[in-house]
Amino acid sequence: MFSGFLDKLDVQAFTTAAMNVPYEQLHSDLFPGIEVWVRRDDLLDPLISGNKAYKLLYSLVEAKERQIETVVTCGGAWSNHIHATAAAGARFGFNTVGIIRGQRPSSLSATLRDAERFGMKLVFVNRAQYRRRSEVEFLSEVEVEEDSSLFVPEGGSNLAGVRGAQLLGEVIGKSAPVKFDQVWTACGTGATFAGLAAGLNGPLVVGVEVLKAGDSVVSGVCTWLSLLKTRLTNDRVRVDPDIFTSDEMAGGVVCLLKGFHGGGYAKYSDELRRFQCGFEVETGIPIDPIYTSKLLFALSAYAKVKHFKESKRILVVHSGGLQGRRGLN
Ligand SMILES: *Cc1c(COP(=O)(O)O)cnc(C)c1O
Repeated sequence: MFSGFLDKLDVQAFTTAAMNVPYEQLHSDLFPGIEVWVRRDDLLDPLISGNKAYKLLYSLVEAKERQIETVVTCGGAWSNHIHATAAAGARFGFNTVGIIRGQRPSSLSATLRDAERFGMKLVFVNRAQYRRRSEVEFLSEVEVEEDSSLFVPEGGSNLAGVRGAQLLGEVIGKSAPVKFDQVWTACGTGATFAGLAAGLNGPLVVGVEVLKAGDSVVSGVCTWLSLLKTRLTNDRVRVDPDIFTSDEMAGGVVCLLKGFHGGGYAKYSDELRRFQCGFEVETGIPIDPIYTSKLLFALSAYAKVKHFKESKRILVVHSGGLQGRRGLN
């Protein structure tokens, strides 16, 4: 079984590792009438996994170039981004600080226990403080040293993060074993989706929102796409199309699906649990409950009601998140 390992922090070495990530074709009744492949970015590295690795790449390269010693970021108790940042700090020689929402519990989540073992300093802040995480005074308010540190926002979702996902899109363009009509990915903030849309030239990019985001994902995506100066403009973003026909989707559009959050972020229904189990048994591919389960559930639901016409070859990005499975009870 393939398993990669990121041993060097530079764009070239990272790109080489990304080029080696395997693609697997699925053979499963869950996706009738379409050909589904999964790109296993969960296997990019055992600890710096999935889309969070791509989203961190350019921030860490910048920190290294500027000889910054400490990377500061924030997240929740089961955050894949906190986990990846702590692991990357240990691997590439940065101090890391994680600002965590809520009080320090008597027993830490497995994610935070790992983060501490990797050397991350955890700073717990209350919810009101945490809500101000995108304001400029945030670090000084929670008394985290700013000089000689680099702040990466929650989820790694800054422009550097989007550029990392753009690199993923370019790598897919170069390494895909077949020509894909569509590339599907899970959306939290939509940074990964925006980067993929910018980096891929040809396939329709479809994002499945995993939380009740209102219009925030759509508007964030539009902002990032314009910052990246892509050919994709606001009027190219479609929400919940009835059907994927080639006419409707011609000319470089992207597509967001809002109906599959299943009640909200980290809401995990019995139906979703059954789907995840069935998928894993049939394919042998482990997925996470928060992101990739909802993504594949959405694809299965679309396939079952024949939303695909001639556009039938689908790539699903496995964005990692498997460490978060330990949060399930
Ligand atoms: C964070 C995360 C996402 C969502 O990424 P965004 O760039 O915020 O949309 C998707 N999948 C997994 C496994 C994640 O950890």
